[in-house]
Amino acid sequence: MFLSNYIKEVFGAVKSLATGMRRTLYYFTHHKEIITEQYPDNRDTLELAERFKGEVVMPHDEKNEHRCTGCTACELACPNGTIKVITKFDITPEGKKKKAIDELVYHLELCTMCNLCIIACPSDAIKMVPTFEHSVYDRTELTKILNKPGSKIMDGVE
Ligand code: SF4
Ligand code: SF4
Repeated sequence: MFLSNYIKEVFGAVKSLATGMRRTLYYFTHHKEIITEQYPDNRDTLELAERFKGEVVMPHDEKNEHRCTGCTACELACPNGTIKVITKFDITPEGKKKKAIDELVYHLELCTMCNLCIIACPSDAIKMVPTFEHSVYDRTELTKILNKPGSKIMDGVE
């Protein structure tokens, strides 16, 4: 009686192990179907979904020029105060005052990646990029100024 119970338990354990290993063994012979990635070893070959959103940035060209007019539409569209547009007045060559961006402050730590600011921007001055390694020890590092030092608006963007 004792021996038969023991054998039953051994068979039960083997069956349970085989059930647990079934999926593992399946992928062992079906490498192409594996979708999990070995981060961070795969940094060079990492494939992110096209719709992945990681951070709002303001592209600048080789002349350190951007497309931001300081209109504040992005700030108004943002549901949680992640963006603060600080404006100033520049003097045009004709001697007129013209509103311009001083700083576009972006609080990455607050951003929900909802994309509303990108949609709201009338001059395509900001965009989402798929960065994701945002861990820092000091949270103030997550507050970013999106316009680069010394940058200015591109000619022709109003
Ligand atoms: S993505 Fe959404 S939460 Fe983030 S800054 Fe833009 S509007 Fe605000
Ligand atoms: S980023 Fe776009 S919406 Fe925001 S202030 Fe600049 S031009 Fe306006």
